Amino acid sequence: MSGRVLHGRLIADLHRHDLAARVSVLIARARVPGLAILRFANTGPEVSYAQSLARSAGSIGIAPMDVRLPEDATMDQAAAALETLNRDPTVAGIVVIYPIPGHLDPEAVGRLVDPAKDVDGASPVSAEQLARGEPAFVPATAVAVMEILNHYRIPVAGRPTVVVGRSRVVGQPTAVLLAAKGANVAVAHSETADLARATREAEILVVAAGVPALIGPDYVNSSAVVVDCGINVTEAGVVGDVDFERVLPLVEAITPVPGGVGPVTTMMLLDQVVTAAERAAQTPAVTD
Ligand code: NDP
Repeated sequence: MSGRVLHGRLIADLHRHDLAARVSVLIARARVPGLAILRFANTGPEVSYAQSLARSAGSIGIAPMDVRLPEDATMDQAAAALETLNRDPTVAGIVVIYPIPGHLDPEAVGRLVDPAKDVDGASPVSAEQLARGEPAFVPATAVAVMEILNHYRIPVAGRPTVVVGRSRVVGQPTAVLLAAKGANVAVAHSETADLARATREAEILVVAAGVPALIGPDYVNSSAVVVDCGINVTEAGVVGDVDFERVLPLVEAITPVPGGVGPVTTMMLLDQVVTAAERAAQTPAVTD
């Protein structure tokens, strides 16, 4: 017996076609949606992520804009750059690539993004809206987790659910979305006393810890649906937070890494860019 593999790439492809169609409607009305991708780093995974996001955006007709600030940029420089992007009517959405340099406060930088353009749901304003149950934009990984469960018709209401990780960008918003759908959610983190005991209770297990192979065979039960958000670059390549090969035979279903949450996350982010552009197109301030 082997668990079912939940393929994110298939879901991403379905969304790609739908999004490209929505973008072509905007382009026909001379409103090419722009996505500003602001980064401080010149090397490392942040650059790869920014480039890959720009390519994906371009592939459906969104115009990516590469915005770079020096790694020693001051808060004033960041504020000036974001103010320019906030005012630019060709920019529908803004993504700040995290992590940002340590001398800058990520929350303060997030607050500088116009909430109407915060397509990655990263700003504290978006987090507050989500917490109130009135989300405008939500961190894309959290939306991707819900989309995968929804696509494969995996019910969550009333089911014991554990989210491993409580970060502002992945764990927390995922727990909020799952709870909003009626799941019985517990959040585990680095201070959880007995992680394996906690996760073994889960019928829905979402893992976003950033620790390769954190979740092994002893951490799951046979009815578990496991969604692995982890993206860890190791000598063996990109791996998730779950020991996929050993856990796959023991569970009901599991997402692979790569090819699981990652591609859906990109599409969910681009979906929010298109939504932002559609909303902006309805406001008279933009030239017709
Ligand atoms: P953070 O480092 O911000 O948060 C990690 C969370 O995991 C923290 O809450 C931490 O607990 C918890 N944690 C860390 N180690 C353990 C452990 N040994 N046991 C239990 N809990 C632990 O990471 P992110 O949330 O930003 O990212 C998580 C993972 O998701 C990473 O691999 C990242 O690359 C990936 N990611 C994937 C995306 C996608 O599109 N698939 C998008 C964004 C991120 P504590 O709070 O106590 O420190």
